[in-house]
Amino acid sequence: MIVIIAEKPSLARNIVEAIGNMKKYDGYYENNEYIVTYAFGHLFSLCDIEDYLESSNNKWTINNLPCFPKEFKFKLKTDLSKKVDKGILKQFEIIKKLLNREDVYKIVNAGDADREGEIIVRLCISNALNSKKQLLRLWLPDQTSETIKEALINMKYEEEYNSLANEGFARTYIDWLYGVNLTRYATLKTGTLLRVGRVIIPIVKAVYDRDKLIEKFIPDIYYSISSKELTNNSEVELNSKEKFDKNKLKEANDLCLKYNDLEATVISKKVKKDILNPGKLYSLSKLQNVLGKKYKMSMDKSLEIVQKLYEQGYLTYPRTNSEYLALAEKNKVNKIIKILSEMNYPVEFKDKKTIFDDSKIESHSALTPTYKIPKFKDLSEDELKVYKTVFKRFTAVFCSKDCLIEKTEIKISLGNLEEFTLKGTVILEKGWTLYDEYNSNDKILPNLNIGDKVNILFKPVEKKTSPPKHYTIETLNNYLKNPFKEDKSKEEEDDTEDYKAIFEGLELGTEATRTGIIDNAIKSMYIELKKDVYHILPKGEYLIESLLNMEISMDKYKTSFLGKALKKVYHNEMKIEESLSLAKKEIEEVFLKKEISIEEESDTGFYGDLIGICPLCQKEVLRNRYGYGCIGYKEGCTFKISGVICNRIISKNNAILLLKNNKSSKIKGFTSKSGKKFDAYLKIENNKVEFDFS
Ligand SMILES: [Zn+2]
Repeated sequence: MIVIIAEKPSLARNIVEAIGNMKKYDGYYENNEYIVTYAFGHLFSLCDIEDYLESSNNKWTINNLPCFPKEFKFKLKTDLSKKVDKGILKQFEIIKKLLNREDVYKIVNAGDADREGEIIVRLCISNALNSKKQLLRLWLPDQTSETIKEALINMKYEEEYNSLANEGFARTYIDWLYGVNLTRYATLKTGTLLRVGRVIIPIVKAVYDRDKLIEKFIPDIYYSISSKELTNNSEVELNSKEKFDKNKLKEANDLCLKYNDLEATVISKKVKKDILNPGKLYSLSKLQNVLGKKYKMSMDKSLEIVQKLYEQGYLTYPRTNSEYLALAEKNKVNKIIKILSEMNYPVEFKDKKTIFDDSKIESHSALTPTYKIPKFKDLSEDELKVYKTVFKRFTAVFCSKDCLIEKTEIKISLGNLEEFTLKGTVILEKGWTLYDEYNSNDKILPNLNIGDKVNILFKPVEKKTSPPKHYTIETLNNYLKNPFKEDKSKEEEDDTEDYKAIFEGLELGTEATRTGIIDNAIKSMYIELKKDVYHILPKGEYLIESLLNMEISMDKYKTSFLGKALKKVYHNEMKIEESLSLAKKEIEEVFLKKEISIEEESDTGFYGDLIGICPLCQKEVLRNRYGYGCIGYKEGCTFKISGVICNRIISKNNAILLLKNNKSSKIKGFTSKSGKKFDAYLKIENNKVEFDFS
């Protein structure tokens, strides 16, 4: 007998349907050859710090940190009361019994076709199986009966997926190391639950940085000059390249006078017919971008729907980062095309490098419909939106009719001082644009011919520089996919090539995880998504500013550095342990900071520490979220020492000295409002903290 373990009940049902004639039992299906059972996604999770310490005390304490388990252990998932979830335990017992049955000689991992699916089922097998049996992998690019039948014949050995599993485990361990250690550290420090993670922080930071830029933006006024006059009965708009500062209105006027004395003449006109190509097939994030823009659909919502359509067999595997199809898929695509043409869509097979390209596929091809076409009336409104978007793009890409356009370019010379170019495009034959969205910004140019004189009247036009834009689903996705692209605008040396070389693994999160992490940032109330625009929330501001104060840097460079290491694990160029040591080193540095003495400061203290006596009311002073405050605030005492003064953290030691002796030690590295660095003592004067430069 062969046992197949599916990642989810829905996949198990699809496999059972493909095999046919299976009898249903409690938690599995069986016929005379196969047994099909299932997990509920993750049955196991990594142990908590307390499990490693075998401590019954669940209280978080700095003494347990940082925690680097010698060997990572998993346990069956627990429910809210911290007891093993009953449903999960029951299903695991069923799997265990089936795997160890004497008549079972082969076990098949039918996790989703990704690293998460790989380890979900591997954990079930390694925790349940008592003897050695042959392990195989069922790898499904989609869940239609036909694909499942074919994949069952062509199963590979499970070992062939070892590197994928290694990367999956390394990723899980590293995320645990960061998440658990730094979340507890930051929470203990600030007294507020702060969820810190390897990928969530750079995401929140990106939104924070952008929103701060917008907040600080002061628009600048400038003048451009342009002319909008009628020639041959149509308006001709000419915009000059010249721009003038807001105090140079006179100069702008002078140039207008000069221009208006000149003659404008059409010096060339080019008309060219061309073919407009459709867009590429969709990767998950490209699809989410389109759905966000068009329907304001959030990423978790769109992923949920794509996942459902995949589970129903209508779409191919969704968590893909490629916009291309594999060469090996040509037959399959041909079959889908045949079905579409029977439905009277004008499609034909196209063997093009812009569609089929193995070099642009890591493990999954672009999202496409399968040959199983749903009845549109059976889909919900949102499902229809998602399905149709994928379906239409597929139809457009394989459309047998070209979209024919006419491009026109007219050049107008003004004296010999400036030359203006007008560009227009008109669609002559609609072709694929009949089937897929297309921003038809047809621009028809005025009726001008070579030698025509163009009427002009240039005037200064007041304009404002515009602030940067808030991140949208699309722009944040693009940033996360390639976080280093933006830096190019800073006009550093051209290192495009260097970046290209390191892009492998430098993205923040992966196509498979990003949606969940962004959703987490929203649920933690760090950021919000309104329509399709992200905004930072007060809790997110507090998170980022606290991390800065604690000198915990989790910027894109660090996250990407680890991402690159994980890719090396995948390519067998690095061992899991090596990637873990890189992460441990980073985490250790955060904890080491307590030990490094900057001018005898040993510790910046923790939330709740009592540090001295209030000079105003003689009650105790407590370390709080924002610094140090008198516990007599309820009775109206206002004494406090800010945690950060002029961009400098005020350590617990210095706060103690200040209360005890009315003078801190000499603190180096304050930054004044104008950006100048300075050193000073702190003293208390008139019940307030002041600088002392003596
Ligand atoms: Zn007080």
